[in-house]
Parts: sequence; C-alpha cells; structure tokens
Amino acid sequence: MIKAIKGMEDILPQDIAIWRWLEDTARRDLESYGYAEIRTPILEETSVFVRSIGETTDIVTKEMYTFKDRGDRSLTLRPEGTAPIVRAYIENSLGKISPELKVYYIGPMFRSERPQKGRSRQFHQIGVEVFGSASVYADAEVIMQMNNMLKLFGLKGYTIKLNTLGCKKDKDNFALALTNYLKDKASLLCNDCKTRLEKNVLRVLDCKNENCIKIVANAPSILENLCPPCREGFDKLKGTLKEMGIGFEETKNLVRGLDYYTGTVFEVTHPDLGGQDAIGAGGRYDNLVKEMGGASVPAVGYALGMERVIIALKKDMSLCANVIYVATLGDGPKIQGVQIAEKIRRDRDLAGTIVITDVKESSLKSQMRAADRLNAKLVVIIGDDELKKGEVILRDMRSKEQLNLSIEEVIPKLREKARC
Ligand SMILES: [Zn+2]
Ligand SMILES: [Zn+2]
Repeated sequence: MIKAIKGMEDILPQDIAIWRWLEDTARRDLESYGYAEIRTPILEETSVFVRSIGETTDIVTKEMYTFKDRGDRSLTLRPEGTAPIVRAYIENSLGKISPELKVYYIGPMFRSERPQKGRSRQFHQIGVEVFGSASVYADAEVIMQMNNMLKLFGLKGYTIKLNTLGCKKDKDNFALALTNYLKDKASLLCNDCKTRLEKNVLRVLDCKNENCIKIVANAPSILENLCPPCREGFDKLKGTLKEMGIGFEETKNLVRGLDYYTGTVFEVTHPDLGGQDAIGAGGRYDNLVKEMGGASVPAVGYALGMERVIIALKKDMSLCANVIYVATLGDGPKIQGVQIAEKIRRDRDLAGTIVITDVKESSLKSQMRAADRLNAKLVVIIGDDELKKGEVILRDMRSKEQLNLSIEEVIPKLREKARC
C-alpha cells in the first residue's frame, strides 16, 4: 500500500466541515477590518527564507524542505508566510498602490519537524501582515483582531503573551548583555543553547530545558535595554490593549525564533497543546522589507496554526453544520421527500443546510442509522400513511421528540428548529 508522506496528513471528508468553517469565519472577520487576501506560491527560491528568517534559526538549519530543481536552482517549500509576502510586496510594488496595506493568507506551510500532536510537516496557517505603520496602534489593532477572531472561533482559555524586543539597536545591546551574562555559565547550558550562545543568543531565553530556565531566570531583561522611544511605545501598547479590554500577560522571556522580529512580539498559548506549543504568534518586523531589497517600510503581523486551533476547539466545539435527513419509505413518499428536500435547499433562511435523501431504497431503520452517522439534527419521515394524510413526521434527533406536521408547516418548523 502506498502511504502519505510521514507527517503529511489527509484532511478527510468527515473533517472538512471544521476547516471550511474556520476559513469562512476568518475571511469574514479579516475582511471586516479591511484585510485583502494574498496568495503566494508554495515554492520560493531558498534565499527568500534564509535571508529573512535567519541563517542560524531552527527553521533554516533543520526544518526546511529544500531541494534542487531540474535547472539546479535551490528551492524551498515555504515554512512560513511572511517572507514570501514581503518578497511579493517588493516585487509587485504593492507599497505604491497603497502606503498602508493589510493582507491576509490562508494556506499550507512545510517544516520537517518530528511529527507530534499539533505539529505536522504540512500544516496550515491563517496569517496577516500590515505594512506601512510604525505606530503601536497598528500592533494594537492586529492583536485586537486576532483576539476577536479567536473568540469568533469559540476558543476559550487561551493566553496572549506579550513582550518587546526593542529596535534593532536595543536588540543588539540586549544580545550583548545576555552573552556577557551567560559567558561563564556556558558549561551549564544544554547543547542547543551552547550553539545558540554563539549564533542566536536570544533563543536561550525560550529554551525549555530545566537547567537553562533556571540560568536565564536571573538574566538581564530586555526592558532594561530599551531606548526611551521603545519603552514609551511598549507602555502605550499595553495601555491601549488594557483600554480595549484585551487580556495579556507580559512575558519577559518571549523572544520568538525568527531573526526578523524587532519591537512588539506576542504569542497565543492554550493549555490543551502543552507547554511547548503556541497556537499562534506574531510581532513587528520593521527592517525586513528593507533587508530584502525594498524601501524602508515598517510592518507587523501574526500567524495562527489551524491544526492547533482545531485541537484546542475540539473540546468545546459549538459548530453549527446543520444536516437534515429526509427518510422515506415507498415510491410515493420518495418523490414527495425529494420535493421537500429541494424546497429546504432553496430556502434562504436555511442556507448552508445539508439535506440528504435516501437513494438506496433502504429500510426505515437503516435510513435512521444513516441519519445518525451523518450527525443529522433533524429527520423528516414520510411513509404511505403520512403521504395519504398530507403530513410528515419531524424527528428532533437530540431531544428524540417527534411532531406530526402538515406539508405547509414543514419549512417554517425547520427554520425554527435548525437554528444553532
Ligand atoms: Zn529602541
Ligand atoms: Zn537550553
């Protein structure tokens, strides 16, 4: 048997409803904030990612799907969405079309990590990028929208963690202070952190190794290394979020693993994913457009992992995909059943409802089993008796309540009952 590549999963028909619903909900919410969708290719030249994410980051050193194509070019399956969008932003002069640009994307990303819960090698993200504002009000709106969208998804119990890395100069100063602090403690650090100390010292701060956590507990803080404008900006952001009623936890060791972040960084965590995994993360990257060859354009964005959102949602899912099953017995009832099914499908108030009729001439019992399997909320039952009386039976599959209705009463009753 030929199998799917390890860590790359099929999304099967029985699971597609939640994916579609998440995507639809996200699109509606994002577009109400003025975001427009952007779709970039899944393959890019490898340099797009190496130059932006950073040569020493985990993604670039260990996790990218990179290969040579037939023309001997080094290509990479996109491991994240920001770098390709910045590439597209510069290449298509999107900054000229609109000095402030808000885009979103929904699609697959690829990283060859060890597959585990919420971590596939092909995974999916919903993300945004806002170009053209250096103000903390842009950060605040990005976080507010993300928070609002998570609420629309029905997600509960998540935490927004917030920190700042300061400007490039602050970040460099802090990296130096941290290196000095860790220098004589290097032998106590885990092997990964020994490398990070040389190449990417900020990453030592979010190491999950117990010894490393103990060592960094007393490390200098980024807040001590902020220049006055960066400090004021961060205070203003926190004040704004509080005013808007958005809960967050200031987390001084939150650094994010990608080189391009400066200024605000944030992460959303959820207890169902364990300590390691964030549902999503984002931050400001004011130097990236310039570093990739464009103008000096400040930007901020985030990405949410859809698989992870789904794991967190599965516990208290309040999804509303309505299935109505029309069960019929006999030729006359079958025709009437098909007519009623058509009426339901065309009814504007019942838009989005899935209506299933029996096309196998099965027994009533096996039709009821099928309705159960399909998670039908309501079943319309028509037999010869009902046909003669001009009636149908409407069965509510949850309460098990049954009603006898005249044909005219069916649609109004379904409108009332099919509501979430
Ligand atoms: Zn600064
Ligand atoms: Zn470590």
